[in-house]
Amino acid sequence: MDRGRKLGKYSVGVGDRFGRQAKAQLQACIEARENGVEIEPVWNKSNREHMIIGSEPASVRRAADAAVKALGWTAPYYCDADHITAQTVGRFIDACDFFTLDVADFIGQAAPVEDIDSFVKRHGELQGTIELPGANGAVEITSEVLRETAQKFLAAVKKAGVVYRVIEKAKGAGAFISEVSMDETDRAQSPAELLIILAAIADEGIPVQTIAPKFSGRFNKGVDYVGDSGQFEREMALDVAAIAHVVRRYGLPGNLKLSIHSGSDKFSIYPAIHATIRRFNAGVHLKTAGTTWLEELIGLAEAGGDGLALAKEVYIEALAHREELCAPYAAVIDIDPAKLPSAAEMRGWSSEQYTSALRHVEGAAAYNPSLRQLLHVGFKVAAKMGRRYLDLLEANEAVIAKNVTENLYLRHIAPVYLGTTGGAATERRTPELLATEKA
Ligand SMILES: [Zn+2]
Repeated sequence: MDRGRKLGKYSVGVGDRFGRQAKAQLQACIEARENGVEIEPVWNKSNREHMIIGSEPASVRRAADAAVKALGWTAPYYCDADHITAQTVGRFIDACDFFTLDVADFIGQAAPVEDIDSFVKRHGELQGTIELPGANGAVEITSEVLRETAQKFLAAVKKAGVVYRVIEKAKGAGAFISEVSMDETDRAQSPAELLIILAAIADEGIPVQTIAPKFSGRFNKGVDYVGDSGQFEREMALDVAAIAHVVRRYGLPGNLKLSIHSGSDKFSIYPAIHATIRRFNAGVHLKTAGTTWLEELIGLAEAGGDGLALAKEVYIEALAHREELCAPYAAVIDIDPAKLPSAAEMRGWSSEQYTSALRHVEGAAAYNPSLRQLLHVGFKVAAKMGRRYLDLLEANEAVIAKNVTENLYLRHIAPVYLGTTGGAATERRTPELLATEKA
């Protein structure tokens, strides 16, 4: 299945809710290249985000193209129709060249018995002990596990096949990258399940280049990983080895790699991710998603004046509507209401208080993960402000861009792809920035 567009070994998914930071995000990839590692940027935006912001997929494409042109980026880059289904794929077809086929809603739906029977019969090789070279382990699949896994996932994989073929028909085979995502579900998939799912994906004829399983531990939005990082590393190693196995065994694309969703701010597992991709000489797609907009708030607060006033207003409004803002994300946020400053306290805050509470720097005393998570889901508040918010972004572009680039490069790209540790605490000052700061 190796033909057509091929996603590079290292790629980073970047979200940009309001479509103003593509250049600052691309700048982080340029800094990675200057430090010796090529990372392909993928601008992702889900249908839900488009609905809340009131934007169209074409706007993501325009912003990406403009950034690439402005900065002279010559390597590949993509626009990702994020978490799409048969119902939502249509509006993404023209603007996107990367499609994340989301099958989570169909996990657990029963496939017809004859489909299960024929899958189990066809895949006798999946029963027994499958050695996974390099992972210090093997997976054991009994006939019961094979059948149960097929019962749980086969219908979902077939749904992905339906959506894949809609896109293939419209764009042509090889004209786009396919990812299959299963992360937005209640239970993590084991390496054994991943093997079986990928065999089913191969049967379905989907030339999948990235696969996003749900890993164990909590991947809350915009804050650190909660779980056992050692267990994560063992699990990731088995998953990576399982991928190498299915590529050899079923002829899936040779560049097939893991995609780590909700990957923003998972600082405590970045060393494990880096060690694993090094150990297996494997690629990875890290999806950092929606935290760029928090850097916009940090930049506005840092700017002071109207910027700080608006950043406070966003918080106060989000606090007033906390329950309704949090409801859709209940499974992926953990806010302690007692840790949230009141509206009155917030009114008295300085730039420094706001930025140090919101900026995610490991070990910083003032960092407040509850406030950060509330603001993360509060982008609806800024979306409602419309022009007023966007005008302030433009007026404070330099200070915001600095925060966006620094967050993406120092806190995400450097530890994951370059293996730099402790980078989060390091100040980064470019010559251009020093010049603007002096001015
Ligand atoms: Zn996801």
